[in-house]
Amino acid sequence: MTPLLTVEEHRARVLAAVSVLPAETVRLDDAAGRTLAEPVLAAHDLPGVDNSSMDGFAVRFADVEGADADNPAMLRVVADLPAGSSTDPTFGAGEAVRIMTGAPVPTDADAIVPFEDTAGGLADSLASIEVRRAPAAAGAFIRRRGGDTRTGDVVLSPGERLGPFALAAAAAAGVAEIAVRRRPRVAVVSTGSELVAPGTAPARGQTPDSNAALLTSLVSDADAEVLLVDRVGDDPAGIDAVLARASRADVVVFTGGVSAGAYEPVRLALSDRIAFEKVAMQPGKPQAFGVLDDGRLVFGLPGNPVSVAVSFEVFVRPALLALQGRAVLDRRLARLAASETWTTPPGRRQYLPAAIDLVEGTVRPATAGGSGSHLAVSLARAEAFAIVPAEVSTVSVGDPLDVMLIP
Ligand code: AMP
Ligand code: MG
Repeated sequence: MTPLLTVEEHRARVLAAVSVLPAETVRLDDAAGRTLAEPVLAAHDLPGVDNSSMDGFAVRFADVEGADADNPAMLRVVADLPAGSSTDPTFGAGEAVRIMTGAPVPTDADAIVPFEDTAGGLADSLASIEVRRAPAAAGAFIRRRGGDTRTGDVVLSPGERLGPFALAAAAAAGVAEIAVRRRPRVAVVSTGSELVAPGTAPARGQTPDSNAALLTSLVSDADAEVLLVDRVGDDPAGIDAVLARASRADVVVFTGGVSAGAYEPVRLALSDRIAFEKVAMQPGKPQAFGVLDDGRLVFGLPGNPVSVAVSFEVFVRPALLALQGRAVLDRRLARLAASETWTTPPGRRQYLPAAIDLVEGTVRPATAGGSGSHLAVSLARAEAFAIVPAEVSTVSVGDPLDVMLIP
């Protein structure tokens, strides 16, 4: 019997076959979820000038130093600066300029007195003011030019995903067009003569195709494009037909038909083109992967829905992210303590659908009935996969486990 591959061995073979997709330039509005191909450099300083962090008055600190309710500083207001104003009003000793949050601080000012530290606040502020509390120091309530970023600074690095925060950073840094990787185009193909479309009442021996829905969503979630979703029966001829339909794909993901049964269309059609392996994991032992002559990556995942979910996380998702040049290929892990006891298969690493409590720091099986890889409905209760090392056969209450978080 050939020894099982470790998860790392199979994953390394998959990742070795991946070349990063070409870069393209897109507008910021179209860049959500894309992966940066080049660094984003700040086009200007941010803030662009020293500006006020409060509504109040721009003052000379020397005029207000030590002021308090008993010894207020009296200043004459000589100008007004709303946000967006580009003027730089000059003023002398004993004078002040009313200023709104974000407006440029006049060159003559070196501190801001917020409205709430004056006697009249906004009410009497366009004539004269009485400062009843001095700012702590020169520079108080002034946001400095370049305090967030400076022209030419690296704001974002290649391999970063453009999520909401990254997109906002690019916008703030004055960048409107971004070099990103093309999205991988993925074909999702369910195999099995027993499968029917969701919503069709299954006759005896039939079952709804849930892998199509699962993979379509997982692929989108990995920021790849679902090119095609198809379903074929257990005739191997169907496999080549669907490969022809998926000619524009970068990646084709089959589910089912890879293991040792009598009618395994993926194995029968592709065993001369891609490798069929056994991997020391549970679920997900039978795995097929290879590269077609035209460069398309082909995954043959086992058919059971939980096996598909796990195989996707462990092999397919990292490959889809690597195609995009993503710097981080793995989901986040948390170290959590088991709150229940369960047994695991010997010699294989278990990825158990799990429920977690991040406040308590605990993890437990998502379903009471153990880890059946056919439990497609129960999978909905999982929010993570608990990873149990191959050499462990029983997880006991309190045991620490690495847990892969699925957002
Ligand atoms: P296979 O790997 O083809 O032997 O399939 C293993 C099990 O997974 C069988 O019970 C199949 O009915 C089930 N299965 C295969 N494909 C799907 C699918 N697309 N949706 C739901 N269950 C499936
Ligand atoms: Mg099958």
